[in-house]
Order: sequence, then structure tokens, then C-alpha cells
Amino acid sequence: MPKSISHTPRERITALRDSGLKWREIGEEFKGVPLGTLCRIYKDQNYEPRKPEILRALGLPITVMVAVCSLHGIIHEKRCPGAEPKPRKPTKNARRKKLIHDERWRVCYHSFMRMKR
Ligand SMILES: [Zn+2]
Repeated sequence: MPKSISHTPRERITALRDSGLKWREIGEEFKGVPLGTLCRIYKDQNYEPRKPEILRALGLPITVMVAVCSLHGIIHEKRCPGAEPKPRKPTKNARRKKLIHDERWRVCYHSFMRMKR
């Protein structure tokens, strides 16, 4: 019998269980899933497995918790376009001014050292 891919693992487990299969036999189809977990999926309609290895074994997508943008409520692939701009590199002029300032201090320092001698 070909395995239907349109069924969710719960539907599949339910169908197998209701057809009279033992948990051990159902487990053959879901290798890597503990029989207790299969049983729980069958009995508890609200139970959703969380462990990645279980999800993988059930053929379910692995979901992870990620923080969404507080501004847009979505996950940005890159930086949020609405966020504060990054502090920019000082302009060439600003850097030159700083250099001049530093130079002045160096000159002062040297003349101070000369005075000491
Ligand atoms: Zn955003």
C-alpha cells in the first residue's frame, strides 16, 4: 500500500492504530519516534511534538523560535529598513580636524619636554 503524503502524521497514526495495528508495528513506519510519543499523538489532539529529531522522523517541518521585528512583526532577511540608521563613519573632514587637534597636543607635549631639559 503506497504511503499517502497528503495525510498528517496524526491522521496516519490514527488510521494505522484504528486498523488494529500494535504500537510496535506503527513504530516501524515512524522510525526514531518513541512508541510513547506515537501513542500520545494519537490520544492527545492538542499534543504537538517539539523535539527536532521527532519532527524529522515524522516528516514534519522543524520550527524554531525567532524574534520578529518589533516594528513590522515579520522576520527581515536583512536589517529592518525602518530601524535607526547605523552610526556612520566620521567624514573625512571630521577626521582631519581630529588629526589637527592631536597634532597640536603633540607639539605641546614636545615643547613641554624640551622645557624640562
Ligand atoms: Zn522591521
